[in-house]
This record gives sequence, structure tokens and C-alpha cells, in this order.
Amino acid sequence: MTLQGVTLEAILITHWHPDHIGGIRDVLKAVNQANIPIYKRKLLEIPDSKILSTYGIENPDDYTQFTFIESNQVIETEGAHLKYELQAVHTPGHSTDHLCYLLEEENALFSGDCILGEGTTVFEDLHDYMNSLSKILNLKPKLIYPGHGPIVPDPQTTIEHYISHRQQRNEQILAALKDKDALEPMEITKIVYTDIAEQLYSAACHNVENHLRMLEKQGQVAMTIAAEQTSQVFREGETEVGENEGNIAYLYIKL
Ligand SMILES: [Zn+2]
Repeated sequence: MTLQGVTLEAILITHWHPDHIGGIRDVLKAVNQANIPIYKRKLLEIPDSKILSTYGIENPDDYTQFTFIESNQVIETEGAHLKYELQAVHTPGHSTDHLCYLLEEENALFSGDCILGEGTTVFEDLHDYMNSLSKILNLKPKLIYPGHGPIVPDPQTTIEHYISHRQQRNEQILAALKDKDALEPMEITKIVYTDIAEQLYSAACHNVENHLRMLEKQGQVAMTIAAEQTSQVFREGETEVGENEGNIAYLYIKL
């Protein structure tokens, strides 16, 4: 790919995922510019090394020479006739470093993977993600340019739909736990998701676990660890901790 006659002032990155940073080197090569600023927010924590190794990345913040920016920082750029201002908005949840960029002149938001043009997104931390949705709602953008999928023409409705969908799921989980002893996430999943195929339960369970962690942060549920069969693994006087993960059940109760 070559882009003749194109001059870039800067590159703005929403977050570290490979489908968002993986093209940087090719773009720089295509425009034949090596030294333009590449803006990104610093990760709050380095992602799981197992996930990183599948992408062949050691530390995403070292992927290229980034210029790290903070939330609310404004980046100015010269258009053909206009000066544009893009405000970075920290919207963690999908990833800890996620930024959306608000094009102030048009009140349009580049939402990265926080809000998609179709389907719903995944998240690392639902509690943070919900706060980010409220933050975007308060910005009242007129238009959203998502990282994937078509333009979102009616952001308020879309964001409110995202929020109510998650709240509904919370209520279903709390209802499943009501008047029960502690339940495992998979038991809750099977109560809440009655209409999905067996092979989708593990993905659905992952989702339920995200919701449980959020409800835990809100003080609505508590996790109790039921260590099963530990007596077989830990003999009296033994201090060494064995590989016992498989025998531990994480249970949740409604507060
Ligand atoms: Zn992503």
C-alpha cells in the first residue's frame, strides 16, 4: 500500500488490541513518514501474558514509539480550511487504556471498541465499562464513528440500549440468587440463559462472571470460596500449597 500525496500530522490510537495497533508500521511506511506522533493512553496494567503471547506482543505500550496522553487532553489538527480539536476521553472497560476521541466541532465521537456499529462489545471490566457508557452518554454526541461496523446515527438510543441490556442481565442474576444458598457462576448461567445451545454456556458463563464481579463491587453479591476436598491435598503439618485449583469452587450469594 502506498498513499501518494497524503501527509499525516499524527495517528490517534484508541487502545492496544492488535487490530488497532497492528497497522501502524504499514501506515507509516505507506505515507513515508517515520516521525509523526502516535497518541495513546498508557495501560493501567499490562494485560495477561498468555493473551499477549498469542498476539506475539510483549508489552503493547512498547509496540512502537507512542506519545502517551491523558484523559481530556486536546489534540489540535489543521484541516484544509479548519482547525479541528479532538478531545481524548478515557473510557476503560473494554481495555484499561481505552480512549474515545471527541471531534468537538462536529460533536462526533470516535468510539473505538467501546461502542460498535453492530453487535455488542466484550469487556475486561464491566463496572468500568458501564461508567464509561455513562460518560459517553453525558457527552451527548450527535454521531458515533465506531472502530468496527457502520456509523451509529442515534448514539443516545444505542447507548441507552447497551446500558439497559446490562442492567437487565444484572437483575436476572440477582433474581437467580434470591432465596438460594450460594451458587456457582455456571449454575447461575443455566438459570439465566434458558434459550442457548449447550456449547455456548462457557462463553455465557464468562459473561455472568463479569456481571458478578460488577455486582460484587457494588456490594450486591459476595463471593465465598468453597474449598472442596482440600483435606485430601493438604495433610496435617504440610505448609506447601499444592495445585488445587480444580477443587476450588467459587460461589456467590446475594447480599
Ligand atoms: Zn478491542
